[in-house]
Parts: sequence; C-alpha cells; structure tokens
Amino acid sequence: MILFISGALLSWIIAHFYYKLSNKDKNKFFNKFSEEVRNVFLSDKRDTLSIYDINDILRHKIIDKTIEGPFKYKVCPKCGSKNLIRSKDYFVDVDIGDYNEPTYFGIPYDVIECNECGWRKTEEENKEAFEN
Ligand SMILES: [Zn+2]
Repeated sequence: MILFISGALLSWIIAHFYYKLSNKDKNKFFNKFSEEVRNVFLSDKRDTLSIYDINDILRHKIIDKTIEGPFKYKVCPKCGSKNLIRSKDYFVDVDIGDYNEPTYFGIPYDVIECNECGWRKTEEENKEAFEN
C-alpha cells in the first residue's frame, strides 16, 4: 500500500513538474513572438507547421510578386513597416580622359530602404537573395 501511494505520488510529482516545466517553455516560446506574429500563426488552420510552412507564411506577409520593379517587398522584412522607400544610388567610377584628367561617372542601381528601422537592400543584394 505504501509502495502504491509513493509510486502514485512520484508519478504525480513528475507529471506535475513536467507539466509546469513544459508550460513554462511554451510560454517562453510564445512570448518570443510579437502579437502580430502570434496572430499570423494562430489564424492558420493547420495543427502543425513545418519550417517550410512557416517560411511560406512569412514570405506571403513580406513579399508580393505583383509589385513592379526589382523589389517585391510589401513590408520591411526586419520590422514589418510599410514605410519603404525605393530609390536610386550610384557607384562612382573613374576613367582617365584624353588629357590624363580623371573623369568621374555614376552607374545607377536600385535601392530599397525602410524609413522606420533603416533596413536597406541594394539591387545586387536583392538578386543574390532570390537566386538562393
Ligand atoms: Zn524596417
């Protein structure tokens, strides 16, 4: 009888602490995400999500393939802001002119920047990201 009680007690203690621990981990995991991210995942109807599913969900939140131009971002991938600025920047190159004088010229390239957090991506970095 004592053996039975202690066994039951032990299993209750293990189950109780395991439950507490796993809930603590669950909360820790849950709190890592902003409310916006939590809502995105909670609104998904699937019971489990693979890494592929998570990437797919986030890609749809960030990327819109119908957007014209080299950058398909509808929100900043770093902070989620819609305050994105598309502009041009220039590489400055130098050439030697007919009288050995330096001639400077700019080669334009596209840039996208977030006006909220400062995230920035050039046309070249953008190509590399989508090639992989
Ligand atoms: Zn941002």
